[in-house]
Amino acid sequence: MKVLKFGGTSVGSPDRMKKLLDIINPAERQIVVLSAVSGTTNNLADIGQAYLTGDKPKAAALIAHLKAKYETFIQELYTKPAYVELGREVITYHFELLSGLANDLFTPIEDKIILAQGELLSTTLYHVYLQEIGIPSVLLPALDFMKIDEDGEPVIDYMTEHITPLLMQHPNNKLFITQGYICRNSFGEIDNLRRGGSDYTASLIGAAIRSEEVQIWTDIDGMHNNDPRIVKGTKPISHLSFDEAAELAYFGAKILHPQSVFPAQKYKIPVRLLNTMDPTAAGTLISMQSEKGEIKSIAAKDNITAIKIYSSRMLLAYGFLRRVFEVFERYKTPIDMITTSEVAVSVTIDDTSYLGEITRELNAFGSVEVDVNQTIVCVVGDFGAETHGYAARVLEAVKHIPIRMISYGGSSYNISILIKTADKTEALRSLHSRLFE
Ligand code: ASP
Ligand code: MG
Repeated sequence: MKVLKFGGTSVGSPDRMKKLLDIINPAERQIVVLSAVSGTTNNLADIGQAYLTGDKPKAAALIAHLKAKYETFIQELYTKPAYVELGREVITYHFELLSGLANDLFTPIEDKIILAQGELLSTTLYHVYLQEIGIPSVLLPALDFMKIDEDGEPVIDYMTEHITPLLMQHPNNKLFITQGYICRNSFGEIDNLRRGGSDYTASLIGAAIRSEEVQIWTDIDGMHNNDPRIVKGTKPISHLSFDEAAELAYFGAKILHPQSVFPAQKYKIPVRLLNTMDPTAAGTLISMQSEKGEIKSIAAKDNITAIKIYSSRMLLAYGFLRRVFEVFERYKTPIDMITTSEVAVSVTIDDTSYLGEITRELNAFGSVEVDVNQTIVCVVGDFGAETHGYAARVLEAVKHIPIRMISYGGSSYNISILIKTADKTEALRSLHSRLFE
C-alpha cells in the first residue's frame, strides 16, 4: 500500500484539488496525506498570535477573513447545492471552534488546536468533494493514530497499532485520506510535527504500515543537484541513498522536511519526490541503493556562525572537548560542523539565541573568536574510504576562495567547507561547473 502526500500548493485552490485525481488512482489501495490549503497555516498562526496577545478583535477579524476565503473555495469546489451546503457545514464547524476560543483561557494548548484546523479543513473538504463525484473514500483521523512522546519524538509502534485496525475496518475501500502535520502528544493533547511536517507524517505512516513506497508530491521536479536560484543548469537528482538524503536534509529542508528521511530509512521504505505539475517526470527516488563514487549534489546553508576556542590547555589533555560541548548542550544549541587542531577547536552553529552566554562560558577555557555571516557548502555523494580524489576535486574547484573550515570523513557521504557568505555564489557556481559539467 502506497502513501501519497500532497502539499499546500497541491491543494491550494479548488482547481488544484480537483486535479489531484490526475495523479491519484482511486482503484489502488492507498493513503493520501494532505497539507492545509497553502497560506492557511500561516493565517492560523496569526490568529493564535492575536489570541495570545489578548487582541480578540484582531483574532475575530482574521478569522472572518479566512472564513470568507473558504466560502469562495467551496463555491468553486462543489457543483451541487447539497454539497455546497455540506461544505458550508464543515466550514461553520471549524470556524465556530476558532471563534469560540475567545471565551476560554488561551494557552499553547489552544494555540495548537488552532493550528490543527487547516489540515482538518482541507481533508474534510476533499473527502466531501470525492463524495460529490462518486468516488468512495474513507477519512482517517490522524489524531487517532499519529503520536509523539514527551520529547516530541514520533512513536511508530503506537501508530502501527492504531492505524492498522482503522484500515482493517474498511477491507474493500481503496482510497484513504488523512491529515498531515497534526498528532497527539504524550498528554493526549492536539499537537503537531512542526511547520512543514506533512512530509514527516507521510514518512511516519509509511513506516507504520510498512508501505511499499512513500510519494511526496510538490511543485518541483525532485531534489536538484545545486541551488537553481543561484546556479544555471541544475538538474533533478534521479537517485539518492538514504545516507545521502540524510546529509542533504539539513540543507534541502524546502523540498523535504529534514526529519522525513529517518523513519523511511529505518524501515527501508523508498521515498519518491514527484512534481504535481509534471506527473510523468522521474523526480527523485530515495532508497537503500547507493552508487559508489558518484557526486550527487551541492548544497549550501547560510546564517552560520563559527566559534573558535584556542587553548594551550587542550594540548595532550583529555576531557577538553567534552567540557566545550557541554556548554552548547546547556544552551540547547546544536553544533553542525567541527574541526580541531592540537590547540584549538572550531565549531559552527546556526541558532545564535544564546551566543552571548555561550561565548562568555567558553572564555573560561581559552580565547574565543566568533565569525558571523558564514555559509556551509556541502558536496554529497558516496565517497567510501576506498575511493580517492574527491576531496582534491572539491578543493581544486574552490582554490580561489578563502576557506574557514573543512570537514571530511565524518561520514562517507559528505565533504563540507565553511566560507564567507559573500563567496557563496562563486563557490556554488565553480563547484557546479567542475563537478558536474
Ligand atoms: N500545514 C503545515 C504547514 O504549513 C504543514 C505542512 O504543510 O507540511 O507548516
Ligand atoms: Mg511543505
